[in-house]
Amino acid sequence: MHELLRNTPDLETLDKRYLFHPFTALADHERNGPMVIVKGEGVWLEDNHGRRYIDGMAGLWCVNVGYGRREIADAIHHQAVTLPYFHAFSSWATDTPILLAEKIIEMAPVPMSKVFFGQSGSDANDTQVKLVWYYNNARGKPEKKKIIARNRGYHGVTVVSASLTGMPALHSGFDLPLPFVRYTTAPYRLWEATPGMSDAAFTAKLARDLEDLILAEGPETVGAVIMEPVMGAGGVIVPPEGYYVAIRAVLDKYDVLLIADEVISGFGRLGTMFGSTAMAMQPDLITVAKGITSAYVPLSGCIVSEKVWRTIVDGQSKLGAFGHGYTYSAHPLAAAAALANLKIIEDDGLVAQAASRGALMHEKLQQAFAGHPLVGEIRGRGLVGAVEFVAKKEPATRFDPTLKIAGRIVKAALAEGLITRALPHADTISFSPPFVISEEEVALMVSRARKAVDTVMDELV
Ligand code: PLP
Repeated sequence: MHELLRNTPDLETLDKRYLFHPFTALADHERNGPMVIVKGEGVWLEDNHGRRYIDGMAGLWCVNVGYGRREIADAIHHQAVTLPYFHAFSSWATDTPILLAEKIIEMAPVPMSKVFFGQSGSDANDTQVKLVWYYNNARGKPEKKKIIARNRGYHGVTVVSASLTGMPALHSGFDLPLPFVRYTTAPYRLWEATPGMSDAAFTAKLARDLEDLILAEGPETVGAVIMEPVMGAGGVIVPPEGYYVAIRAVLDKYDVLLIADEVISGFGRLGTMFGSTAMAMQPDLITVAKGITSAYVPLSGCIVSEKVWRTIVDGQSKLGAFGHGYTYSAHPLAAAAALANLKIIEDDGLVAQAASRGALMHEKLQQAFAGHPLVGEIRGRGLVGAVEFVAKKEPATRFDPTLKIAGRIVKAALAEGLITRALPHADTISFSPPFVISEEEVALMVSRARKAVDTVMDELV
């Protein structure tokens, strides 16, 4: 039955009738229906009409080892027939999460102590906030609960993590953000720096903005700051040189924890195993998801420093047993998939490959777009990149948002056989392909993107 249905256009009808899509313009969807993907191999996807696409986004920045990796499928199968599930509450354990936690602590970019497993980046960031709150309750600092995130930061969509996400479109309609969240300036050179500003001056301004915010709120009320090493969905924004050193100095001054949201950057995307290493970030807590299993099954983790861990353990005498955890925390099948995925990344040298294919991608993006009159900035690091379009370069001027420039480019790219993404609140398209992308496929991806841009720009004149 399933096999029969897989390749029939009736899937579109059934989808429109029954499936409530995430992050979708629902009224448009009711009219136009879905794009149905049925197969994947390497960086290539195939839809139910047999059309093939380069997946320039690795799904949602996550299928890092590419599609169709038998080693992960075999590990999932083996775990499913051996022990599909048992929980980790009340000191119970299964084997694969123990081995995975050990591996992650060994790999961590700064000395770390424990890993708490969840299912998604969103729930992991929720857990991080609860850890910060528990930590400060245990220390007898019950006022120290505010969390500072950044404008344009993306941290997920649960009630807490959507509040951390600095995008108004994810708040309106949902009565968010929650009142304990504040936002500081994004390290977004194109719109936040003055023309010609040096990295040092921009870094100093950003650190000052954060310090001013902490002082205005009262340092005794601020528990933590959450930051992606390189901002992903908010625009692929790479901070200036020295940024995290300056930020860390501010946080140390006011006894504020740093959460590195490595949901995109963790496990190789920036060309180093962790983004914290690439960006000289010294976090107290690290969030991972996506690349931990290359999205073959859902899994996330909160990596916790000894300082936070020990305070939480010591706090139990006052606060009682740790009352937080999911049915699927430390899921053995997800951990088996993660172990197989990390083995591929290590055995195949995929972090170094992400760095070298990333360098090639940036070279090709520069060649294709640097001279373009409507390109405001080409950004990125490792195997993540973005091109931002502007109506005018000097002074940088945005397009009228109703023109939906990036959305139209993404549509035109699809017609060329390329999947890319329009990022919210800017005319930016992004690239984040699987690490297994070949040199030829990098060139093809960028040339298809350029054709798509030309199509849309031709419509404008
Ligand atoms: N944090 C970052 C940096 C992300 O990019 C994402 C998802 O894109 C999330 C958190 C949320 O992860 P999830 O969609 O698995 O809940």
